[in-house]
Amino acid sequence: MTEKLAPARVTSRMSLVLFHPLMSVAISVTLVAAFLAVSIGANFSRSHTDSQRQTEMIARMVASDLAAGDMAGVERVFEAAGQDALALVSPKGRHLAGEPELLDRGRTLFAPVIHDGREIAKLHSHELSAFRMQTPVWLVALICVSAILVAAVFGYLYSQRLVRDIAAIEQDIDRVAHQARDPGRQFGSFAELQRLRLHTVRTLRSLLRERDDLRSLAYHHPVTGLPNLAALQEYLERILPEADEHSSVCFMFINLDRFGRACEMLGAGPGNALLAKAAERMKAELAKISGQGLIHVEETRLAHLHSDDFGVFLSGLSSRKDASLVARAMRAAFVKPFNLDGRRITLGLSGGIVMAPEDGDRAEDLMRRGRIALSSLRDEGRTGFRFFTPRLDRVAKGRLQLETDMRRALARDEFEPFFQPKIDFRTGRVSGCEALARWTRKDGSSVSPGAFIPVAEESGLIDEIGQRILYRSCEAAVGWLREGLSIPVAVNVSPSQVARPDFRDLVTGTLAQTGLPPKFLELEITESVAVSDPKKFESVMHPLKAMGVRLAIDDFGTGHSNLSILSRLNFDVFKIDRQFIAGLDGHDSAPAIVEMILAMGESLGLETVAEGIETPEQARFLRRRGCTLGQGFLYARALCESEFRDFAESWNQRRSGARRAQAG
Ligand code: C2E
Ligand code: MG
Ligand code: MG
Repeated sequence: MTEKLAPARVTSRMSLVLFHPLMSVAISVTLVAAFLAVSIGANFSRSHTDSQRQTEMIARMVASDLAAGDMAGVERVFEAAGQDALALVSPKGRHLAGEPELLDRGRTLFAPVIHDGREIAKLHSHELSAFRMQTPVWLVALICVSAILVAAVFGYLYSQRLVRDIAAIEQDIDRVAHQARDPGRQFGSFAELQRLRLHTVRTLRSLLRERDDLRSLAYHHPVTGLPNLAALQEYLERILPEADEHSSVCFMFINLDRFGRACEMLGAGPGNALLAKAAERMKAELAKISGQGLIHVEETRLAHLHSDDFGVFLSGLSSRKDASLVARAMRAAFVKPFNLDGRRITLGLSGGIVMAPEDGDRAEDLMRRGRIALSSLRDEGRTGFRFFTPRLDRVAKGRLQLETDMRRALARDEFEPFFQPKIDFRTGRVSGCEALARWTRKDGSSVSPGAFIPVAEESGLIDEIGQRILYRSCEAAVGWLREGLSIPVAVNVSPSQVARPDFRDLVTGTLAQTGLPPKFLELEITESVAVSDPKKFESVMHPLKAMGVRLAIDDFGTGHSNLSILSRLNFDVFKIDRQFIAGLDGHDSAPAIVEMILAMGESLGLETVAEGIETPEQARFLRRRGCTLGQGFLYARALCESEFRDFAESWNQRRSGARRAQAG
């Protein structure tokens, strides 16, 4: 159990300074001094004013004596003034009476001696007294003592408080040090504590800053800076309770069309730049839509969810029609190609549309259902936008059920290969076969690969299924060999199998365990796997090829072949996709494409296999154009192991018989 740290009770810097004992004493002393200064000043100015007033009064008396010519009167006035002796100076600076030296001693006061409105002399007097204490001494003493007492109490209280704080900090430090397996540092001095406190404040500030940065990171996508999945989810949870049938909320789960291919072409860095441009364009289009006011929408929000998945949220829509108008406008905005370093790249937008509250009232459901609607569209090989319907949910649940069933089927070993023969056009004999996975349930019903292979690829179960099919196919081929039937077997390999780091070892291990000579194994791989990362592909396949394993490009012509890469990758076989073979009967471009592939195969010295041959006309066309092998229902469907062996034996015997008859 971790012990919770009590927060260190370190007082604020200001209070530490104010409550420092020395500071308290200084404040108190200053207060006392200020008090004394004020009272002394008050006394002094009062005595000064008194002296001035007295001097003026004497000046008036002297003026009247002078006016009366009574110099004796003047003398009497001087005598009465006594120690505060006075001197009378005429306007010309002559001393008339009193003590002339008085003027040289200390501060003087003066008053004009006025007669008949005329200054007849100036009366100087020594200031009566410098300071006459009027405040009682005992009061001053009392105040001083009180001030000192206050300072002492302050100091005492502060030191107590400081001692408590230090003790708390030391306790915390000890605890931290103990937790960090540090024997503990001593933080004795006040300065050290101050440093510690400053450090703590700084750390706290940077932690707060980092928390803000982290919060921003946690809620924004690093590539586009748009709000991310977490931000959108939070927002939806907040806004969804307000949605009702009058004011719908719409969520669109959007994915970019052709983005994967663009990345294969551009690489990761420019791929991110392309994502940022696509996000900008979506944002601008949404702003335009809400700005124009043609579609009634209260609020629009765009979020970057993951890779090239985006989420658009619209509130205040009046109908589904408005939502599809927005989708159409967004799609139209992507017609114009993007310009990336001089390269023109055209992307597209596809999406699943979900309305709240009718399709769901929880963020999680809306996102899942939007994704389901988009997947259903993509599964049909289409692009565009599709509204979610409960039927799609059932289909998705069906897929989930299929996945669960597949796991169980793997445990019960219900997957096995069936073998479809390949006929050599040159000899007319069965010279190979393709292993095709079949799933036969315990109750005898079967599931077609078209239904389960895509789900197996999505769920990752294809790796295990593929490995089982590989093993059983090699086992079967070894069995035929033992029976004198040398027929190589071609096994389909999924992209995720090739991507596994142990793929090569799995293949070589299987060959070693079953004892099949490598030249009797052919791996069928789709073009996209080979072209997406040619270097890696070559590094995986090269050792297998060196052993004698053959390599075939499956469904050739359906992908976006990069012929220069393909020709470098050292394939042995081109398998022409069955859609072109089916097209041979029509008047479209299929015959020209097939001819072109055959010519290319021939010039590269490769074997060419036409798959899906159903009619003798198709077979004839292909044979005449130099196709080397044919595969299709015209000859046989995929057969189980024993059926295949019987078929191959009887077919080849018939061919040999026919040849002999021809020769005879
Ligand atoms: P594919 O590799 O192109 O296999 C050929 C498909 O064409 C097979 O479908 C086969 O039954 C079908 N076919 C053969 N001849 C004809 C014909 O004359 N007419 C028509 N209309 N179809 C014909 P199947 O067995 O349903 O397999 C579908 C796809 O499933 C295969 O296409 C392959 O891509 C995949 N698949 C099958 N088995 C495996 C496997 O063991 N591993 C992996 N990874 N994929 C597999
Ligand atoms: Mg195949
Ligand atoms: Mg194929």
